[in-house]
Amino acid sequence: MTAEIIDGKAFAETVKARVGRQVEALKKNHDFTPGLAVVLVGEDPASQVYVRNKNKSTVAAGMKSEEIRLADTVSEEEVLAVVHRLNDDPTIHGILVQLPLPKQVDEMAVLDAINPEKDVDGFHVINTGRQAVGLPAMVPCTPLGCIMMLKDRLGDLSGLNAVVVGRSNIVGKPMASLLLAENCTVTIAHSRTKDLPAVVRGADIVVAAVGRPEMVRGDWIKPGATVIDVGINRIEGENGKTRLVGDVAFDEAKAVAGAITPVPGGVGPMTIACLLANTVTAACRQAGLEEPQ
Ligand code: NDP
Repeated sequence: MTAEIIDGKAFAETVKARVGRQVEALKKNHDFTPGLAVVLVGEDPASQVYVRNKNKSTVAAGMKSEEIRLADTVSEEEVLAVVHRLNDDPTIHGILVQLPLPKQVDEMAVLDAINPEKDVDGFHVINTGRQAVGLPAMVPCTPLGCIMMLKDRLGDLSGLNAVVVGRSNIVGKPMASLLLAENCTVTIAHSRTKDLPAVVRGADIVVAAVGRPEMVRGDWIKPGATVIDVGINRIEGENGKTRLVGDVAFDEAKAVAGAITPVPGGVGPMTIACLLANTVTAACRQAGLEEPQ
């Protein structure tokens, strides 16, 4: 058996195209343009690539894009001042502060300062809480993209056993919460979990968000399971080059699973597409407009 490869790149293109049409309709019918601001602190090369891609995609979707770059020596007060200015800017409907932040800046304080209505990353505790109790909320982009791919492949997720490996605030926990909202039976595994392979073997849905290259092996996967690999790990490749791998041993898992996301080309592209979708949602909610279909 060889698993279906879930093409996150193609799926993301359809989401981006829909967002583009929505933005066009908002401009035409309401003379209204959603705006996204991305704050980047420091020179981390991976973060710079993410931010550049986010900007390019925002502009391609017809939205306003603002990029604010700050030196990694910036003080917490200066970062907070930027967030407050963006909170007050009526042309900006989404604010994203690229993590990680330098150690002199308290990440929670910065995330907490973002107006929850403009929190398109969905990391503010108000949004975490609202989502947990089933109220409309901004949902973190990576888990949102994962749920979209799962529902696209499996339809109704009710009653399925889902194992989320990883319990971070930005991926594992919101992922588990979204799966629970879809009526899955959810297990959250982490570094203290006993006999992780046995836990994963019980899963119809496996979401790996660990940050350890190829940790989840093929013989951990239940035959036919759907595997979503969130991990992005750069490892030594051939000829002194590096290459990206996920948290799942792809070739092994592919031989057992029913479907699997590749790395790259799976969850990553969906994350950006969901950021754009969240920005339109946030903009419409702030303007009191119905979101165009
Ligand atoms: P964190 O480092 O914040 O969390 C990792 C989680 O994995 C922790 O809960 C940790 O457990 C758990 N863990 C670590 N080692 C083991 C182990 N041996 N067995 C079981 N669980 C373990 O990572 P993130 O959630 O931020 O990211 C996870 C991965 O996803 C990374 O590779 C990251 O690059 C990628 N990522 C990809 C995105 C995308 O767009 N595709 C977006 C965000 C992240 P404990 O809590 O006990 O320490």
